[in-house]
Amino acid sequence: KISSENYTPAIREQLMQQVQMQMSEKRFRHVLGVEEMAVALAKKYGCCPNKASIAALAHDYAKERSDDAFIFMIKKLKMDPDLLNWDNAIWHGIVGAEFVRQELGIEDEEILQAIRVHTTGAAKMSLLDQVIYVADYVEPNRDFPGVQEARQLALTNLAAAVAYETKHTLQFLLKKELPIYPKTIETYNQWVVKK
Ligand code: GDP
Ligand code: FE
Ligand code: FE
Ligand code: FE
Repeated sequence: KISSENYTPAIREQLMQQVQMQMSEKRFRHVLGVEEMAVALAKKYGCCPNKASIAALAHDYAKERSDDAFIFMIKKLKMDPDLLNWDNAIWHGIVGAEFVRQELGIEDEEILQAIRVHTTGAAKMSLLDQVIYVADYVEPNRDFPGVQEARQLALTNLAAAVAYETKHTLQFLLKKELPIYPKTIETYNQWVVKK
């Protein structure tokens, strides 16, 4: 079992290896970038760096599982049947957290929740949720128009970085005419809409 209390360099190494075995080299490089950024943001904004490290290393753990594996898990755990109408983009966080719990022995609910919401965000996000959501977007290997501004915001105003990412992700999805997961809209309404 891995927790923020028993988290040693050796346990981190072991977790890294378990994660690496589940994904391409490129995705693993991304995961290490997210960890670096998440730990930096955790220190800056005052949440637990060990939790940030564990959540970051595990956040895309299940991303390369088959659709069938996700569908099986949704049914086995009697998760919301509406999930069956979505795909890997949505499953790898929400359902992926259950693979993380079962296979990596990570049971810390704060960590699991940060993994669940890392793709869509949520109206209510803890500091750790925000750190992982933003670190995933601005980690050093990411390259897209606007990443510089997102990085700048991440280091100065975490909530503004959440808003920036949410707005730009929604714009991207609309432009591609991709389906918008309702939670993504809830995140937009909470974090982007001016009150
Ligand atoms: P990654 O796993 O590190 O590539 O990053 P994310 O987990 O943040 O995002 C995975 C994919 O989900 C990206 O292609 C996002 O654009 C996409 N995504 C985020 N929100 C939504 C949504 O509401 N609907 C759909 N269809 N895709 C989304
Ligand atoms: Fe992801
Ligand atoms: Fe993301
Ligand atoms: Fe990611």
